[in-house]
Amino acid sequence: SRGLVWLRNDLRLHDNTALYRAARGCKALAAVFIACPQTWASHGDGDNVVAMRLRSLAPLQRSLSDKQIPLYFLELNGFADVPQALAQIVSKLDIDAVFANTEYPLNELRRDDAVRKALKENGVPIEFCTDRTLIPPGSLTTNSGDGFKVFTPFKRAFIAQHGNSAEGFDPLPAPRALGDEHAAQWPEWISLAGANNLVRSIPDTVGDYGVAAGGEKKVLDWAAGEKAANKRLQAFSQIIADYEEWRDFPARENTSRLSPYLNCGAISIRQCAKMALDANDGRWAGGKGSQSEGATSWLNELLWREFYQHLVVNYPRVCRNRPFKPETERVPWSRRREDFERWCEGQTGVPIVDAAMRQLNQTGWMHNRLRMVVASFLTKNLLTDWRKGERYFMQHLVDADFAANNGGWQWAASTGTDSAPYFRVFNPYSQSKRFDPEGEFIRTYIPELAALSSRDVHCPPQDLFGHGGYPEPVCDVTDSRKKAIEVFASLKS
Ligand code: FAD
Repeated sequence: SRGLVWLRNDLRLHDNTALYRAARGCKALAAVFIACPQTWASHGDGDNVVAMRLRSLAPLQRSLSDKQIPLYFLELNGFADVPQALAQIVSKLDIDAVFANTEYPLNELRRDDAVRKALKENGVPIEFCTDRTLIPPGSLTTNSGDGFKVFTPFKRAFIAQHGNSAEGFDPLPAPRALGDEHAAQWPEWISLAGANNLVRSIPDTVGDYGVAAGGEKKVLDWAAGEKAANKRLQAFSQIIADYEEWRDFPARENTSRLSPYLNCGAISIRQCAKMALDANDGRWAGGKGSQSEGATSWLNELLWREFYQHLVVNYPRVCRNRPFKPETERVPWSRRREDFERWCEGQTGVPIVDAAMRQLNQTGWMHNRLRMVVASFLTKNLLTDWRKGERYFMQHLVDADFAANNGGWQWAASTGTDSAPYFRVFNPYSQSKRFDPEGEFIRTYIPELAALSSRDVHCPPQDLFGHGGYPEPVCDVTDSRKKAIEVFASLKS
């Protein structure tokens, strides 16, 4: 039989559930990737994340071709055009079954439902596989059958369900190579009615999708593809023992920086979990010594990722631009455009916030500690709607992912799943002194402050303003914190 694997954000050969199942079930196999720039743009996907996705295709095409599996490329406008195009493709390529890995945000689920229906009319089944998460979203619930709303009980239930063991999370092998005769039977291209041609040539550059001016060089520092992702995982496995101690210090490279690869699927969540479980005698948590503490702490982060992926399925209202906590719909967000613009540009006058935003603008990435700091600053101190920050991150992050980003923003804005009370507002100056004690990170991104001492760099002395070109703080963090707390407290009454 002839199978088609529809690849989305799962751009790898190894441990790819849909590809694995297709290879087991079919004698001949082709793969297709469908670019939907209009829908991506409407979701807020920026050039950096789109470029990372598209740049992963060429290396994947080469490794698939070693297995005699052609990778076709098709560009459509949006998700709405996908069902009809796929129906034509299966008919013209004489496909018996289609395989794909499930994507969980609402629009993706709707697109896939429409595809299932369209293919059914052609008598071709499509199998959707669990691959982006460790376990299927919806499969882990509270005693009353609801999805978890808080991380810690979710994590406890996950570990209880899996007996603190690695069993069931072993990565799957790559498909075996098919004979040459298999590759020869697939056409170079086919024409589709009302759409572009389906072709085997992958855009060799980011092409029309572009990369923000000046951003390209930095983004290209993220070597694309499965090999690069595995190299990074391997390198991180050598320093995982330091993770717990150093993971919050942005001047150091002690986190894995695997998020861009996890999000376009150049590496799987099981491959990541396996590395850490191996480093921790197969346990999800616990154990003694720094190796075990580092691995436990990292696995904890992988479970945060899992939690947010499950959340969008259990509570799809978060996919509709709505806060997780309905009462926070009433927050009177500030309309001061200038505050938001200064935040975006890294010109708030609060050095750690500005250094973080400049890191994002220049490299397409930001350290996790700083994501929390800048999100708290925007939503609490500047009382600006979290959705503005969420969108800005989507547009700039090379690892932009709806579930993690929405979860992170709502957590910081106290509109989300955080179990901590709304009066927890990060003090950016204390965070700065604690996690960038020498000001090394600040100086990297704010040359205006390079000459300041380690004591002054966190909160520049008044006489500097206007001279070094660095702005005065956009707000007083103590007063603005108090105001934010009053606003949130008033929602309760
Ligand atoms: P590591 O520390 O090495 O962690 C390993 C992996 O665990 C990460 O690659 C990621 O997949 C996952 N992970 C770690 N922390 C979190 C977390 N808090 N939530 C969910 N998953 C996590 N992550 C994204 O992948 N895409 C986003 O768009 C995104 N937006 C965020 C927005 C805000 C406001 C906040 C507070 C966090 C956001 N995160 C996002 C989560 C986190 O900041 C990044 O995953 C992390 O910084 C990536 O760096 P790393 O790969 O070195 O992480």
